[in-house]
Amino acid sequence: MDQRVLFRAIPGVDETKQCLVQSSPDLASCPRESLRTLIAAYWDRQRNKIREGHLQDPDELALAKHLPALLDVVHASLAPRLKKVINATGVVVHTNLGRSVLSADAREAVALAAAGYTNLELDLDTGQRGSRYSLVEELLQELTGAEAALVVNNNAAAVMLMLDTFCHGHEVIVSRGELVEIGGSFRIPAVMAKSGAILREVGATNRTHLEDYAEAIDETTRALMRVHTSNFRIVGFHQRVELAKLAELAHAHDLLLLEDLGSGSLIHFAEAGLPDEPTVQDAVAQGADLVCFSGDKVLGGPQAGIIVGKRALIAQMKKNQLTRALRCDKLCYAALEATLRSYRDPSKAKEQIPTLRRILLSSEELHKRARALQRHLVRALGERFQIALKTDVSRVGGGAFPQYDLPTCLVTLKPRGMSALDLKMALLATHPPVLGRLEVDAFCLDPRTLDAADNRLLVAALSEAWDKAHSAL
Ligand SMILES: *Cc1c(COP(=O)(O)O)cnc(C)c1O
Repeated sequence: MDQRVLFRAIPGVDETKQCLVQSSPDLASCPRESLRTLIAAYWDRQRNKIREGHLQDPDELALAKHLPALLDVVHASLAPRLKKVINATGVVVHTNLGRSVLSADAREAVALAAAGYTNLELDLDTGQRGSRYSLVEELLQELTGAEAALVVNNNAAAVMLMLDTFCHGHEVIVSRGELVEIGGSFRIPAVMAKSGAILREVGATNRTHLEDYAEAIDETTRALMRVHTSNFRIVGFHQRVELAKLAELAHAHDLLLLEDLGSGSLIHFAEAGLPDEPTVQDAVAQGADLVCFSGDKVLGGPQAGIIVGKRALIAQMKKNQLTRALRCDKLCYAALEATLRSYRDPSKAKEQIPTLRRILLSSEELHKRARALQRHLVRALGERFQIALKTDVSRVGGGAFPQYDLPTCLVTLKPRGMSALDLKMALLATHPPVLGRLEVDAFCLDPRTLDAADNRLLVAALSEAWDKAHSAL
């Protein structure tokens, strides 16, 4: 077939546009130029197929045949790229899914700050310029027992700022067992190098003793640093030096002790059967000079890096020009202040902050929710899926409590006439997309990270995915 004949068979942009608007009237309000650009790009892709010989029949270019694909392209382009997804993975702090869900109080505070002006940098006592850094400082002092606090964009920034302020051109001693890479390629050695601090590794991967630190101290040393190993855990024959012992050593040599807690928590989780990790308060009480942690991991707030510690050190960091580049905006402060306020009453925090609530959900409650979800799904989708329950475990995520299993109950779905893997892939394109867990032959939903309000959306998404797969057959 002569390619020129094929090129001539491609429908015009105006004709295509008319046809699209007719079949989907909501497109009438779409900016005309965007619509034209999308259509032109779509036909350009068909032209390429013709050139490459993949498209040889002029009938294949009939507008009616391309209408569904064109509508998909246009609707996808008009829809926001950042959208709601349903998290059925059971991973509470899922970095790919935006980590913590904010509490109702925090969401309200964000909406208020977003909708109008705020006193972000205005001192309402004097009418003079104020500092955003003081907005949550008192709350953090109260909650952690630290003398002072500073909030930056995230915990990676917090680590960078501590090292840049105090250790630029000087040695920082870190245990080899803590030189980890955290998801998203945040590597402690690389961050140190960027900050201009010189890394001095001590100990062995599995064991580091107090003497290892002591022997490495010399006139170039400025700090000892401990890093939470996050999603990596050494089991078996291993040893880490107690924080209080390190503090004693550091202070005897006039050095700083820096503690990167990673996730960082203000409450103990022992009641949930999780290992009792030291809290931020513990680290401060045991003598760390500066302690940093994330705002959106187990704390359950917005993305932020929180540094608490000695007043003089925090003051010095506030003067660092880097701090200006790492500062948070008003939405972050609004969410963080509301989140921290909840912690004034820890029992309220456990109810109000979704991250805490979900970590602390009991196995009985999860079984109850799984049974309710199963009933709901069987009623709506029983013909299309084989739906059962399975006792399993969930993970906290975000590098918190690595390898520790939280008991849960999964709802398992075996779709009829399609594979579980195909279902998983199809659910990435539903409205909204659903993320779950793929087992050998079933797609599983963990109620730990689901809301009751998700049930209706889940049914819609599951039938959308199933229908699409079966209409494609
Ligand atoms: C997660 C983590 C970081 C990075 O924190 P972000 O808030 O993601 O920037 C740094 N250190 C440790 C130990 C962590 O677990």
